[in-house]
Amino acid sequence: MPLWGAIEAGGTKFLCAVGSGPRDLRAETTFPTTSPAETIGRCLSFFSEQQQKVGRLAAIGIASFGPVDPDTASPGWGYITTTPKKGWAQTDFASAVGRALGVPVGFDTDVNGAALGEHRWGAAQGLSTFVYLTVGTGIGGGGLVNGELMHGLIHPEMGHILVPHDRKSDPYGGWCPYHGDCWEGLAAGPAFEERWGQRGETLPPDHPAWALEAHYLALGLVNIICALSPQRIIMGGGMMQQQQLFPLLRRKVQTLLNGYLQAPAILRDIDNYIVPPALGRRAGVLGALALAQIAAQ
Ligand code: ZN
Repeated sequence: MPLWGAIEAGGTKFLCAVGSGPRDLRAETTFPTTSPAETIGRCLSFFSEQQQKVGRLAAIGIASFGPVDPDTASPGWGYITTTPKKGWAQTDFASAVGRALGVPVGFDTDVNGAALGEHRWGAAQGLSTFVYLTVGTGIGGGGLVNGELMHGLIHPEMGHILVPHDRKSDPYGGWCPYHGDCWEGLAAGPAFEERWGQRGETLPPDHPAWALEAHYLALGLVNIICALSPQRIIMGGGMMQQQQLFPLLRRKVQTLLNGYLQAPAILRDIDNYIVPPALGRRAGVLGALALAQIAAQ
C-alpha cells in the first residue's frame, strides 16, 4: 500500500503526517509557523526521517494558507503569493518541497484541501458540487463544482464577499485591511472580539452576539447558495465550535431565502444541508493526504 505525506500549513501552526488513509496515520508532528525557511525546513526534516523509516513516499500533499498559486501551468505554481503574513509573501513552497524530497507534490488552498478530504472520507461523499467554509481568524471557502476542485482565475476568496451591513444597528466598521466590512471583516473571530470586547468562548450561548454572528454568516451563505447551488455546505473552524450557531444559522438562511429555492434539502432537511465537518479537525490534514493521492496519479 503506498504511503503519502500530508502538510496542513496554517498561519499559526503546521501539521505534517504520513499514512495511507484516515485510519492509518503512522506518524505526525505539529509545530508553530515561524519563518518560511525554518518552518519548511522542519517539514523537510520530518519527511526525510520518515522516508528513511518507511521508504519513499508516493507523493506529498500540501493544503496551505494563502493566497496561493495552485495553477500547475503557471511559473508561480506552488507559491504562497500575496499573503499579509509577515515574511511569507512570494514564498516558493511546493516546488521547494518536491525538489528537496524527490517526490511529486499536490498543492492547493487549505479549504480546497479540507473540502477534498470531506469529499473522499467525510460529509461530502458522493456529492459533485458543495462548499467547505472555515470561520476562524478569517473566513475561507473552497469546494468542488461538478466534481472538480474550484480554481478558475486563482481560487475562491469567499471570505471577502460583501454582505449588507446596517451601521445603525451594528456600528462596528470591520477589520479587513482591504475592504473593512466584507464578510470576514464582519464575521470572523477578530471581528467578534473587537465588537464585543471578548472572545466567543467567554460569552453564554444565549448572548445576542450569537444571533448577530448567525445573521452575518447567513447573509454570506445565501450569496454562496444562490451563486453556486451547492448540494451541501460544510462549516468548520474555531468559530463553528460554538454549536449554538448551527440552529440559528440554519433558521436565518431559511428566512433570508424566503421560500424562493424550492429544494427539499433547504426547506425540510436543512440540518443535513448546513453541517459541521465529519472529519472534524482532521479535515485539513486528511485533505492534504488526498491532494497527495491526486498528485501521484
Ligand atoms: Zn476583505
